Amino acid sequence: MAKKVLVSGGAGYIGSHVTVELINAGYEVVVADNMSNCDMTCFEGVKKIVGRDDIPFYQIDCCDYQAVDKLFTEQKIDAVIHFAAFKAVGESVAEPIKYYRNNLVSFLNILEVSQKHGGCNVLFSSSATVYGEAEKLPVTEESPRLPATSPYGNTKQMCEDILRDVVAATAGLSADGEGPVKGIALRYFNPIGAHPSALIGELPRGVPNNLVPFITQTAIGKRECLSIFGNDYPTEDGTCLRDYIDVVDLAKAHVAAVSRMLDGKMKKDYEIFNIGTGRPVSVYELVTAFEKVNGLKLNYKFAPRRPGDVVAIWADTALANDELGWKAERTVEETLASAWAWEKHLAGK
Ligand code: UDP
Repeated sequence: MAKKVLVSGGAGYIGSHVTVELINAGYEVVVADNMSNCDMTCFEGVKKIVGRDDIPFYQIDCCDYQAVDKLFTEQKIDAVIHFAAFKAVGESVAEPIKYYRNNLVSFLNILEVSQKHGGCNVLFSSSATVYGEAEKLPVTEESPRLPATSPYGNTKQMCEDILRDVVAATAGLSADGEGPVKGIALRYFNPIGAHPSALIGELPRGVPNNLVPFITQTAIGKRECLSIFGNDYPTEDGTCLRDYIDVVDLAKAHVAAVSRMLDGKMKKDYEIFNIGTGRPVSVYELVTAFEKVNGLKLNYKFAPRRPGDVVAIWADTALANDELGWKAERTVEETLASAWAWEKHLAGK
């Protein structure tokens, strides 16, 4: 029998790509989403891509304990991938209670219910934001976590710690009744791009905070001009360096991590992996690569630095490469072409 994976936040940007790759890999997937930051576009896209109309979908809020408990009673869940969280850094600074309540309570519910229903494998979607402005680059999983600079970033650190503690506390439980929780935290660098089918991708609400959706919306004419935040940083071209990871590659890393848990291959009951390409790319390089691969000119200007941005961060991917047997494969050009194809799909072009 195929193992069953619950994807919370499965109708969102990363969750929808992960759902596709899990199904392609032969897993049964149950999607839970409260639709607070997406519509059905991506879930419909997922069904088209995999050619299935029968993917169980629960429109529930993971902050609702009873609803999560009911889902686990109805479905025999072997692993959970938890995406359901708010993710806007600036909004989290303005509305910390909303962020702490949502991101912590939903994860606590997932963990409590996982433990109650005989134990589970839990994969948490964490972020390279936990490293802050790292002293040594690239960052390894052993690099120190620095104090978070936003409530959003803090919820990522706190959820990692909660997972670690629940794994430790439940290690001795046998699986009848309450059971052990095993955990993996994946620390993503900068996910970008879309599925090659252009049927799923990022759907920002309002003005995008992230670079690539701002680029594609500028190219399609939805935004007038891209501001490149800061060109006086101590880097070669003066703009910030990031590790842009293709969303399909990122999704495949989740499949590798889930398989590792379900196949009993974990070396510790709680593990952490960086998920990136290992290649630093500057904002300016990304913008010019987008222009070149898609054969267009982007309206952009240099603007002041954005408060809170780190100068440079990229991943040491050795651990993920060796232990998960996973490696980022798509080139940044392919990824930027896919982002543009998705924006055009949205515009009906
Ligand atoms: N950025 C930019 N203009 C934008 C959005 C982002 O120049 O409209 C820059 C931002 O300053 C950072 C990089 O692009 O150096 C990546 O930003 P993003 O918000 O996508 O991800 P972050 O690394 O902040 O999580």
